[in-house]
Amino acid sequence: MSNPSLLILPGDGIGPEVMAEVRKIIDWFGAKRGLTFDVSEDLVGGCAYDKHGTPLHDDTMAKAQEVDAVLLGAVGGPQYDKLDFSVKPERGLLRLRKEMDLYANLRPAQCFDALADFSSLKKDVVAGLDIMIIRELTSGVYFGEPRGIIKEGNERVGINTQRYTESEIARVARSAFEMARKRGNKVCSMEKANVMESGILWRDVVQEIHDAEYPDVELSHMYADAGAMQLTRWPKQFDVIVTDNLFGDLLSDLAAMLTGSLGMLPSASLGAPMANGRPKALYEPVHGSAPDIAGTGKANPCACILSFAMALRYSFDRGDEADRLEKAVNDVLGQGIRTADLLNVEGATPATTSEMGDAVIAALDASL
Ligand code: NAD
Repeated sequence: MSNPSLLILPGDGIGPEVMAEVRKIIDWFGAKRGLTFDVSEDLVGGCAYDKHGTPLHDDTMAKAQEVDAVLLGAVGGPQYDKLDFSVKPERGLLRLRKEMDLYANLRPAQCFDALADFSSLKKDVVAGLDIMIIRELTSGVYFGEPRGIIKEGNERVGINTQRYTESEIARVARSAFEMARKRGNKVCSMEKANVMESGILWRDVVQEIHDAEYPDVELSHMYADAGAMQLTRWPKQFDVIVTDNLFGDLLSDLAAMLTGSLGMLPSASLGAPMANGRPKALYEPVHGSAPDIAGTGKANPCACILSFAMALRYSFDRGDEADRLEKAVNDVLGQGIRTADLLNVEGATPATTSEMGDAVIAALDASL
C-alpha cells in the first residue's frame, strides 16, 4: 500500500517557522513509528502572489484536491494589505475551503493541565476542559444572497441573507453525531429558533437526523446566546457543539479563549469522504501570520503541531498517535518549557520556536 499523502502549505510570516517544527515531527513519526507520509510542499497566500501573481496557483489547487490531507501554516502580512481584494492572501485560503467544499470546521477547546492558570476563567472551570465546536463553514449568512449595500430613498441599506438548505444542515449534523460517538456521545445544537426561521429549520433537521440515524447519541438544543453564557459559566457541560457559520464563528472564538493562548489552538476543516473513505481535509492553526514576531524565533509552534495531531486522528485514523503527540506537548508545557506567549513569570527565559519543537521531539522519544 502507498503512503498517505500530505500537502504542506507553510504560507507567510510565522507560517514557515512553525511548519518547520511540524516537519521535524512528521519525520519523527516516519523514523520511529513507521508512519511515513508522502509529503509535498507548495505556496499559498502572499508568497504565492509574489511568485505567480495569484494567492493560490491552479496547480496547487489541483494538488490539494488529490492528497489525503492539506496542512497549512498561515497567510497574510502588511505588505499585501493594499492588494486588490481578489488577490489578497486570504483569497487563497478561501478558495481552498470553497473548492474542497470543507463544510465542517472543527475547533477543539481543550485545556492542557499545565496551562489551566492561563485562562481568564477560574482554574476549576477550565481544568480538564475538552469540547469540540463544529461550525458549518460553507453556507449561511456569509454566503447567502441577496447581499450588498443598496440605496433606499435617502439612505443606504446593508443586506445579508441567512440561508440554509436541509441538506446543508443534515451533513454538518451528521459530522457532529459521528464526532460525538468517538468522544463523550453528547451533541448540543445551537441556533436562534426563537427569532429566525432558518433556526427553526436547523433545529428540526438536526432532530430528524438524530432520531433516524443517531438515537444512541444524547442531543440537546440551546439558543446560541444562552450557549455563549453557558460556555463561560460552566463549559464542561458540553461535549460536541454544532452550530451555523455565524454563531460558530463567534462561539468557537469564545470557547478557544477559555484555554489560554492563540499559539495553542489547532483546527480542522472537513468535507465529504473521498473514494478512499478519508474526508477532504485541511488542517491549520487558528492564528494568523503574526507579522509582529515573524523572523524573531518567538512563534509558538504548538497550534500547528496540534493541527497535525488532528490530521493523525481525523484523516489517518491514528487516534493512538494523536494522543501520543498531544501528551508530548502537554509534558513539555508541564516541564516549564514555553514560548514567550505562554510565560507569565517575570525573568523566565522563553524557548524559541525550534527549541519548543525539539522539546516535543524529546518528549515523543521519552514516550517510546
Ligand atoms: P495573528 O493571529 O497573526 O496575531 C495576533 C497576535 O497573536 C499577534 O500579537 C501575534 O504575535 C500573536 N500570535 C499569533 N500566533 C502566535 C503564535 N503561534 N505564537 C506566538 N504568538 C502568536 O492575527 P493578526 O495580527 O490579526 O493578523 C496578522 C496577519 O495574519 C494578517 O495579514 C491577517 O489577515 C492574517 N491572518 C491569517 C489567518 C490565517 O492564515 N488563517 C488568520 C488570521 C489572520
